[in-house]
Amino acid sequence: MPTAPATASTIKPSGHHRRWLLWVAMVVLLCALVGTAMVLARRFQEIRVQEQLDQETATLVSDIRAGLRRNVQTLQALRDPTGDHEGWVSAATDLLTQRREIAALSWHNAALGTLAERTSPYLVNGLKPHLADDRLQDIAAVCANARRASGAMYSPSYFRPSGDGQGLELMEMCIPALQQGKLIGYLVVTYSLQGILTELPDRVAVRGRGLALTEPDGTRLAITWQRPLGRVVVTEQLLELPGNVMKLRLDSPRERFDISPWGATGLVGAMSTLLLGVMGLLGWDMRLRQRVELALAEALAFRKAMEDSLVTGLRARDMSGSITYVNPAFCQMVGLDADALLGKGLPAPYWPPDMADEYQRRQAIRLAGQVLPREGFESVFMRPDGTCFPVLIIEAPLINAEGTQTGWMSAILDLTEQNRIEALSRASQDRLQATARLASVGEMASLLSHELNQPLSAISSYATGALNLLTEPHDANQTSQLGDVADAMTRIQAQADRAAKVIRSVGDFVRRREHTGELARESVSPSSLFQAIWPLLTLQASREHIRIELDTPADCPDALCDRTMVEQVLLNLARNGMQAMPPEHPPTSSGYRTLTLSAHPLSTPDGKHRVLFAVTDHGAGLPDDVAANLFTPFFTTKAEGMGLGLSLCRTVVEQHGGTLTHAPAEPCGTAFCFSLPAAHT
Ligand code: ADP
Repeated sequence: MPTAPATASTIKPSGHHRRWLLWVAMVVLLCALVGTAMVLARRFQEIRVQEQLDQETATLVSDIRAGLRRNVQTLQALRDPTGDHEGWVSAATDLLTQRREIAALSWHNAALGTLAERTSPYLVNGLKPHLADDRLQDIAAVCANARRASGAMYSPSYFRPSGDGQGLELMEMCIPALQQGKLIGYLVVTYSLQGILTELPDRVAVRGRGLALTEPDGTRLAITWQRPLGRVVVTEQLLELPGNVMKLRLDSPRERFDISPWGATGLVGAMSTLLLGVMGLLGWDMRLRQRVELALAEALAFRKAMEDSLVTGLRARDMSGSITYVNPAFCQMVGLDADALLGKGLPAPYWPPDMADEYQRRQAIRLAGQVLPREGFESVFMRPDGTCFPVLIIEAPLINAEGTQTGWMSAILDLTEQNRIEALSRASQDRLQATARLASVGEMASLLSHELNQPLSAISSYATGALNLLTEPHDANQTSQLGDVADAMTRIQAQADRAAKVIRSVGDFVRRREHTGELARESVSPSSLFQAIWPLLTLQASREHIRIELDTPADCPDALCDRTMVEQVLLNLARNGMQAMPPEHPPTSSGYRTLTLSAHPLSTPDGKHRVLFAVTDHGAGLPDDVAANLFTPFFTTKAEGMGLGLSLCRTVVEQHGGTLTHAPAEPCGTAFCFSLPAAHT
């Protein structure tokens, strides 16, 4: 959290690029993997098919070898034809009928002279396969080998053309005939290679396939059936016979090897499709995440910009009191870097050492889970240079996503400037008040001189009278003379007291109250407020023949207010009221122009008790244009007026939680009203 989150612009391009590259690499790799898997699966299947065909070819080879071996055993049963030539011919004919692969049989003496011979009845075109002159030499060589090996021996194959332009690929086998270990002759068997291919292998196994016998170098000697159409799979196996080596070749149609859709290839294909699907989903999910990431980055960037531009200090602490987050405004406020603040526990580095104990106690209350005031509390912080400054801290619990409290979040306001402005405004308000008072004083000075004139001239007259009495010659009635002097002195004293009282009451009022910076709230009875301004009011009232009435019921509660300021308000309103009733104004029925000051108990709808003050005159009333500007500072209709009185009154009333209102009075004039909170009785 304390580290600056990356902005949207820094996350976007590089991450975007890299992610795309990764995707491309992943798709390429996946395609390569799938391709390789498919090729391998196909190769695997081909190898398996090849192995199977090899196996089948080997079986065919062993079929042929077994057939030839069987033939050797059967042929060995043929006896020497010397004694019974007819019997030999009949046995040979039977054999040739049963064994189609044998083209001819002949019996020879030890010198290879022909004793008997028989040709297969299946040979067409009068093909005389053996005992032709060109074969004698080869047969002699084979029989010589057979004699040496004491077993059947085969000759290399050769082609014997028939009359119709066709022919047969033939091969001789020579079996030496021994009697009591002595050679008595040879049995020469001529095999048709075509016949071997047709008769000896399992026919079912070669159905639909091409079977051929070839030279080891691949030269074709004999084939059966047709080579399958289309692509074929070729398998070859050596057919080793004593004296002759050939190859058996099997051509199988490739279609048979095709892999079924449910085979490995199909499976790999299906899995690849699934994989691609999953990748697609992943991509979709990724794009979703990317969008969310972008939105998150933007939100973070916005939050950071907001936090950086805030002038309010922000600080987060965990439940143990360690700082987990601070914003730049807070760092600037306390004159410490974020590094110097983060992770710091209690006492905090910006606590003035002498107040650390109190702050610790406050922290303990917080940890105990007590609710803190929402309007915050004031405190004092200290910068590293030792300067202390007042702050307002508003704290709230830090609740995480699970709804558990993880610490405290505080907004901190530096009150230095606010306090300075407040002090300035208080000073200017005081000056305003002083000005208003001076204005009152100036006005009162003339009234005072008039008022003092009376007692002073009375004092002067009494003093002159007393002096005369004292300077007159003493007569017999000296006692009555002294009594007159004492009476004059008493009157002088009374007048002097009266003058002193007038001066004191004015002095009391004008004297600036001790400045405390706060409204001096005290419980004051309404009548004592009226009494305080009474001498000043009567000064003006008696001169202008105005009667002042006080109306305060006995049960009226005391008001909770700043006595001096409320006196000033009442005096201003009363003076305005008297000025609204100039001497030429018609008197009321009582013969006097009357000004009424009243105070009554008032209960507000929310059940609070207040005291309602009213100053009612019976003057000309308020014209509309005057009423509209009544509270505008410096608005006045009087030649000597300052236009500050009512705006000052309103300020004072509002400071007491009230409102200054006005309404027409009966039968004429205006009533100014305001209320003050009632003191608890
Ligand atoms: P000032 O008395 O110096 O003119 P105020 O703010 O006390 O300043 O009064 C402003 C104006 O309001 C007065 O000039 C006067 O015209 C009018 N005014 C105040 N009180 C009354 C009243 N009781 N009756 C008629 N007019 C009044």
